[in-house]
Amino acid sequence: MSPLRHLYLIPVAWAALRGGARAGGLLGLMAGFFQVPLVLPAIERAGLTGAAVEGLVSLALPPAVGVIAGMLRDESRARAGRLAALLEIEQCLAREAPLPVRLDGVAAVVRRGLKAARVGVLVGTTGEAPALGSAPPGARLAPGSAADWSLTTARPVRSADLASDARFTLAGPAAPSPRRGLILPMDAGAGTVGVLALEWQGEVAAGTDAAAAEIALHLALGVENARLTMRQRRFAGELEDKVAAATRRLREIDQAKSEFLSVVSHELRTPLTALEGFAELLLTRAVPPERAARFLRHIHAEARRLGRIVAELLDLSRLEVGVSPDLKREPIDLAAHVERQLELFAGVHPGHRFSWKVEGPLPAIRADRDALDRVLQNLLSNAVKYSPRGGEVRVAARAAADGLVELRVEDEGVGIPARDIPRIFDKYVRIANQETASVRGLGLGLSLVRALVEAHGGRIEVESEAGKGSIFRVILPV
Ligand code: ADP
Repeated sequence: MSPLRHLYLIPVAWAALRGGARAGGLLGLMAGFFQVPLVLPAIERAGLTGAAVEGLVSLALPPAVGVIAGMLRDESRARAGRLAALLEIEQCLAREAPLPVRLDGVAAVVRRGLKAARVGVLVGTTGEAPALGSAPPGARLAPGSAADWSLTTARPVRSADLASDARFTLAGPAAPSPRRGLILPMDAGAGTVGVLALEWQGEVAAGTDAAAAEIALHLALGVENARLTMRQRRFAGELEDKVAAATRRLREIDQAKSEFLSVVSHELRTPLTALEGFAELLLTRAVPPERAARFLRHIHAEARRLGRIVAELLDLSRLEVGVSPDLKREPIDLAAHVERQLELFAGVHPGHRFSWKVEGPLPAIRADRDALDRVLQNLLSNAVKYSPRGGEVRVAARAAADGLVELRVEDEGVGIPARDIPRIFDKYVRIANQETASVRGLGLGLSLVRALVEAHGGRIEVESEAGKGSIFRVILPV
């Protein structure tokens, strides 16, 4: 027999590669069938000789080749289809769109790929109610549903008919029975990140479960990746904001330090000039005794002022290296002390009205007199500086609960916007305001006040509204 008789395998293989197992098998059967008249009579004639066996083999060969080649072709097509679907799913997940939109795209691909009647994708764990994202959008996990069970137990659910499955309540619109259901937890190894729910009406093609499991695994990986990317982006954004804020702050501090030098030299120069002038007058001229006494009082006052500035600078330098101010505590009659200070202050600020009230009996406190003066001076001068249109500055003191006293300085000035309040006690912080743009300052007063108050074991609180005024409360232990 000529080996050329096997040439009929070529169209069989071609049919299998073009049309799959069914077409290959059919053409193979036909090819085998055509050989029956050649093989069977020969067996009848001569029995099962070597040539007859060879004939039988060539009879069976075409359908076998057709089916096997066709099955291989079907399998590789299915695999290519699954790969394309997975790629499409990854593309959907990687899109720049809100999560529900991306999941909607994924659900459409899965529906097509697995020929399902309905597909639901839900991202989020049971702890994250409502879900982080779902397709269809806004889907909720119905308690007692198969999806809820799968998400809670991290196990797949297979049901021949969801409608008559006693384990679950049925979610979604009514549909003809049987509703075959397959629900898979999406888990890439780091815990369940959601569920993939599939529903079919009628029979399901072989291999669908495996393909669905593969898709659920890819979805879990994709969701994890998307989450990681989102977290990374958020982190990068936050980092950028922090770097920008730190740079801004450094610039502010740099600018404030230059201004600090110029203000400090000005502050020191003013009393020094006065001291120099009066001392020179006393030295070079014959001054009558009462004028000389007046000059000496000026010299004394300016020397004290200089002393206060130097003490303040020392406090600031201690604050700069993180050391709390040095205190010399002594018993102080707060009411009398504040009243005296306020009187002096009011005398040199005629543009504002000042009021002073002691609310109830005040206990004597143990505090550092100079420190207390500096706290009051700073709060009063801020109340005046930041009330450019004048108005009333109300100062009050009262005994608070648990051995505390409260000293309150209230003004009707420009106030402080709520978002800036937490910053005002930081060093070198000044809040921009058109009305007070020309006010000189270093942004150090309140940080010094806070340090002094805290060194006494007290605290400072502020209540303020932009445009309405501010209330500073110093609370000190008795
Ligand atoms: P300075 O007054 O030298 O700028 P401070 O540390 O005393 O520094 O105050 C910090 C900032 O807080 C001020 O620049 C101002 O913007 C705001 N501030 C302080 N006190 C008041 C107040 N009574 N009313 C409105 N704003 C205030």
